[in-house]
Amino acid sequence: MRDFINDANIKNILEKAKNPPPERIREIIAKASELKGLTPEEVALLLQTEDDDLIAMIWQTAHKIKEDIYGNRLVLFAPLYVANHCANNCLYCGFRRDNKELNRVALTMEQIKKEVQVLEREGHKRLLMLCGEHPNRSSLEYFMEAIETAYAVKTEHGGEIRRINVEVAPLEAEEYKQLKKTGIGTYVLFQETYHHETYKTMHPSGPKKDYLNRLTAMHRAQEGGIHDVGIGALFGLYDYKFDVMGLLFHALQLELDCGVGPHTISVPRLEPAFNAPAAIKPPHPVSDHDFKKLVAILRMAVPYTGMILSTRETAALRSEVFALGISQISAGSRTNPGGYQEETSEAFRAAQFNLGDTRTLDEVILDITERGHIPSFCTACYRLGRTGKDFMDLAKPGLIQKFCQSNALFSFKEYLLDYASPVTREAGEILISKMLDETFKTKRKKMVCDRLQQIEDGTRDVYI
Ligand code: SAM
Ligand code: SF4
Repeated sequence: MRDFINDANIKNILEKAKNPPPERIREIIAKASELKGLTPEEVALLLQTEDDDLIAMIWQTAHKIKEDIYGNRLVLFAPLYVANHCANNCLYCGFRRDNKELNRVALTMEQIKKEVQVLEREGHKRLLMLCGEHPNRSSLEYFMEAIETAYAVKTEHGGEIRRINVEVAPLEAEEYKQLKKTGIGTYVLFQETYHHETYKTMHPSGPKKDYLNRLTAMHRAQEGGIHDVGIGALFGLYDYKFDVMGLLFHALQLELDCGVGPHTISVPRLEPAFNAPAAIKPPHPVSDHDFKKLVAILRMAVPYTGMILSTRETAALRSEVFALGISQISAGSRTNPGGYQEETSEAFRAAQFNLGDTRTLDEVILDITERGHIPSFCTACYRLGRTGKDFMDLAKPGLIQKFCQSNALFSFKEYLLDYASPVTREAGEILISKMLDETFKTKRKKMVCDRLQQIEDGTRDVYI
């Protein structure tokens, strides 16, 4: 497959968009607020806007789009690192091959089971499973066994993992077919940077050196029958404006070739990592202001796509960007294999990068509840087959919200009854009552109240 990222073209579009006329920016904002998405030229004009009043309008619009499509729910997940052996040498990552001081770990199935038990007992229902890229120590067979092991773990209160998204090195279409059979949710893979030269510098050796193989992985995943794919860029490696354009071109190409755009876009920012030179001193640091701007612009450009923020960011910044369009967040995370059971300094030496937000799941839930977001553990769409194009057909006109809001409340109610601390339970019940009063109209309200009562009476895993 041909390389569809043209660096010169992106630079040219960005160059032409410099000093955009304010009236044009207002027009673009008006178009975006109708959930129509944006063209690369329009995105470039927004990226080149430096006027504070217009940027404030961009933030407001992104917030409105997020509320229109997804409502006020925030989906929660935990990353599960199963192995940190890696044949690559990404200059920004603690797992890179040349980091000889890293404590290398590949969890056994028994250890994976214990990790999942810890997560289930905290209330998690959704995982993102990851590993380094290593032909023997984290092979596809090993990884698939890890997925099956995690799905099989059941704990008290109906504790179970209902959706496992995965983040593993590029595969061939045939291998994606096998991976799909394990029942994964979204297949996630970040291009890191779309800028060819920087990509080459950052990935000096190992299979990841191959830019095109990585760029086209999502197309092969679709070919292998995985219709929910998640793209991302690691901000801080190159000019953020260029990488936002790269993400957009990637999304447009997927839509064009596969009939469905990315299910999610992740926006990780470089964090310090153990023995990783590019992470200790990011080549193109992105300020908090620019980070907020890029999240909002992506929200406007691809309104139907979920946007993911991880615990790389601090609690304070995370709460600011939730309002700008983030729909999924990780919480209570560890980036070292075995990290949910261990808190030792030895375990820290196995971590991929440092975390900005180290609060527990319950603390994060209390915080977002108090800010008026409904924490959601919903996995309904994927289990009812609302994936790929079927999901997009609901998301694009904003229809998905009618499922999201109700399902978020059901899964939140389960969490409050089974896992929450007393203070979180109280705050959660207040939010649920408020939602019932303000958001749901008569017929729908009755359905939601009936199901909440069923959950109160002991039924679990309720969704529509
Ligand atoms: N090894 C696979 C890969 O590279 O795609 C999958 C898992 S890798 C552990 C997941 C992601 O972590 C990478 O794609 C990269 O964007 C991110 N990452 C690596 N080092 C990081 C750092 N120092 N700060 C923030 N994110 C980082
Ligand atoms: Fe390996 Fe992924 Fe880290 Fe690169 S980012 S060193 S491929 S784990």
